[in-house]
Amino acid sequence: MIRPAMPDCPECSRPLPQDRRYAIWCRHCGWNLEPAPAPHEPAWQLERERRLADSLAERPASGPERSVSAFLLSVPVLLIPLPGLLGGIALLVFYRPIWFAAPFAAVLFVITAIFRPRIDRLPGSAQPITRTQAPQLYDVLDRLAAQTGTPKLQYVVLTLDTRIAIERVGLRYRRTLRIGLPSWTVLNPQERYAVLAHALYDDRRGLHDRVLGAAQHVIGELAAAVTPGALDSAGDGRIKHSEGVVVIVGQGSDDQILHSWLVKLGSAVLGPPIRGYYRLLRRLDLAGRQRREYRIDRRVAEHIGSEPAAAALERVLLADICYRALERAVRLGRADDPLEALRRTAAEIPEHEFARLVQVDRAGNGRSDADHPPTWQRTRLLRAHPTPTTSVFAPNKDDELRAAARAAVVSLHD
Ligand SMILES: [Zn+2]
Ligand SMILES: [Zn+2]
Repeated sequence: MIRPAMPDCPECSRPLPQDRRYAIWCRHCGWNLEPAPAPHEPAWQLERERRLADSLAERPASGPERSVSAFLLSVPVLLIPLPGLLGGIALLVFYRPIWFAAPFAAVLFVITAIFRPRIDRLPGSAQPITRTQAPQLYDVLDRLAAQTGTPKLQYVVLTLDTRIAIERVGLRYRRTLRIGLPSWTVLNPQERYAVLAHALYDDRRGLHDRVLGAAQHVIGELAAAVTPGALDSAGDGRIKHSEGVVVIVGQGSDDQILHSWLVKLGSAVLGPPIRGYYRLLRRLDLAGRQRREYRIDRRVAEHIGSEPAAAALERVLLADICYRALERAVRLGRADDPLEALRRTAAEIPEHEFARLVQVDRAGNGRSDADHPPTWQRTRLLRAHPTPTTSVFAPNKDDELRAAARAAVVSLHD
């Protein structure tokens, strides 16, 4: 069936794209471009980020990367769990009878445990990639490690999500590179090199970053503990609709009502100072943290060129489309070769859809995660100070990953 051609743009009368599988919009005047999503970040943060990026566009190397005041405010936060731990130990050692002391000690240990370092876990479908399976990939990683002054990577896993990053995984805190296949397949070899180099630099964290990261985790947990959640509500017997599911909220027992009041009281008394402290820490740390990220981007651009470094940041915006296509293929039982399915999807995405995603991401100040500045500011700064593109030895043998990709898809059915 031949569909009638799209009419011209109603705003500026220039031709519109014809591919109806993707959103129709006008790249000349922006007609039908979806409205910008509401930003997650508060207005002060967006304003500060904008000023920082503007000043770095003028003078890339200006300003400190680390905030002494944020560090000094972080240290006492890390000491919060200490009295609980010491108190528990003291009870067990000095207090008799032990059967009386033990339950109190247990309560103190549980409180301490709430503040334990977070343990990152991999998704269930993650598949390890070994050196023998992927010699070229490991070869590239070894060279990159030497270039970035970081230890060699010993663990690489392939996942079906879109994240490419180095994480400390599991109880043994194993330094692991996650390669999210949908992102990997939309990047060309040079762009992959840029993403991997950035991940290695991100992972090279000093004492300052570790202390700040741990303190923000502790105080973030505290803030969550004093913020009333759905489970803390004792309920009043009314019916609630939540995400399409009808939930009957029962009349709470006296215990629940007491608990609910305690949480409300805790929230009213402790909530504002704890949340305020958390915001203050983030605020003091923001400019330094983002300067560090911009500097990492610059360093990557010096290895490989500013254009592949910037393009890599934009290309990963296509990963969601590829992820959804893979999901569909898995559902229909047509994902025998997930790598090929992803590659085909990526190749089919028209240029106007890519341009649209970049614009929408920019309008919403989208970013790869909360630790990074808005993506459009990063690409803007990279392109404001161009460096020549160099050819590098980059990973391009996707055959090495084929078996792991299949295993990841198969594990989804288990
Ligand atoms: Zn138009
Ligand atoms: Zn980074």
